[in-house]
Amino acid sequence: MDLRLTPEQEDLKKRAYAAGLEFREAAFKWDEEDAVDYRAVSDRFGELGFFGLTAPKEWGGQGGDCMSYLLAVSEAIRASGSWIVGEPMFCTTGPGPSMIMLSESQALKDQYLRDVLTGKLGCAIALTEPAHGSDLTYLETTAVRDGDSWVVNGSKSYVTGAIYNELYATFVRFDGIPGPRGIGAVLIPADSPGFTMSRGPVFLGTRSIPHGDIELKDCRIPLENLIIGPGHFARLMTAFNMERLHNCAVSLGGMLCAYDEASEHVQQREQFGRPVIEFQHVYHTLADVAVTIEAHRLLSYKAAANAIDGKYPELQDVSIAKLFGGTRIPEVAMKCAELMGGKGVTSVTRTQRIVRDAVTNVVAGGAPAVLRNSIAAALFPGRKFPQTRG
Ligand SMILES: Cc1cc2nc3c(=O)[nH]c(=O)nc-3n(C[C@H](O)[C@H](O)[C@H](O)COP(=O)(O)OP(=O)(O)OC[C@H]3O[C@@H](n4cnc5c(N)ncnc54)[C@H](O)[C@@H]3O)c2cc1C
Repeated sequence: MDLRLTPEQEDLKKRAYAAGLEFREAAFKWDEEDAVDYRAVSDRFGELGFFGLTAPKEWGGQGGDCMSYLLAVSEAIRASGSWIVGEPMFCTTGPGPSMIMLSESQALKDQYLRDVLTGKLGCAIALTEPAHGSDLTYLETTAVRDGDSWVVNGSKSYVTGAIYNELYATFVRFDGIPGPRGIGAVLIPADSPGFTMSRGPVFLGTRSIPHGDIELKDCRIPLENLIIGPGHFARLMTAFNMERLHNCAVSLGGMLCAYDEASEHVQQREQFGRPVIEFQHVYHTLADVAVTIEAHRLLSYKAAANAIDGKYPELQDVSIAKLFGGTRIPEVAMKCAELMGGKGVTSVTRTQRIVRDAVTNVVAGGAPAVLRNSIAAALFPGRKFPQTRG
């Protein structure tokens, strides 16, 4: 596998870094106020050419691949130090748009896909429920056909971007069929009757855009809004793997941001009459951090390069990369903060925000234990690792 970047990919990386840099200062205010003018950020990323990266050109996308997505999201986050700048790419290329692209409903694509891929409508994803997170296959939100509508009932939690997006790719259970066989997804516009949203609890990190709650009470949507019906859980999760690639990009960008800031600091800061980088503890710590980042970069590049049709990451590759990045970034960020002494934990550094974001993100897109279950199941295909009680 050749993981060297092409000149076009190098150019995309530079453009994404420059785009992220535009928001480096604003990101401090977003975090402090726990608020952001998300539409303005999203529009700017659209102007700069970052929407619909992996989507086909006939739908208004750029016809690119997962590597473009990984590079764009990670470099924008590296420069800004904020996960927010990844959201315009997430909502126009990530799991929601990928699910619509995979859908067999031509009417659904005709109505929404172009607007989603060109950023006119934002698409978030709603899986998690108050009683079901890791055990997604137990989810209780139901979709029942009634004439020419689906009627959806249930509750969703921690939906990133809830209140800011117009569309929600929502995981539901059809016809009371138990287990994964009954699970599919529908696309719910936020202005549907019976659909309400609230900001949800305040988070330690990944602030500014809420991870909100959604209530669905006899929420009625047209039949054409079916994304994928029951019996195709594996297909649905193929699109969801874009979520995990996004998590990889967020970890990679955050690690690089903390490393850049700490490296600059230790070369300027003097103690005992010497730049602190000259102390062995400091340059050894930076070497260790650089090795971890390189390992995560290579695992993430592999997950992107191996994606099916360049667009749908393989479960095992992306689970390994997400597990590595998501569990290592807290340690990387804390080491970088420590290298900056007291300053490292003050509000003037990007790194203190990365520390909080890293801890907050550990379970987002799948908890580490769940990723380990999935990785082990693929390593030992002849064995069963049942998680359900007796
Ligand atoms: C920042 C952030 C953003 C998010 N964004 C979204 C979003 O946009 N849309 C959405 O739908 N959801 C979102 N989520 C929710 C996220 O997907 C869930 O939090 C996650 O799947 C874990 O579910 P849970 O919180 O219910 O934890 P639980 O499933 O209750 O897990 C609690 C603990 O039990 C462990 N555990 C559970 N099952 C097993 C097992 N079989 N083996 C070993 N250990 C196990 C877990 O590892 C964890 O440590 C977000 C969460 C966060 C933190």
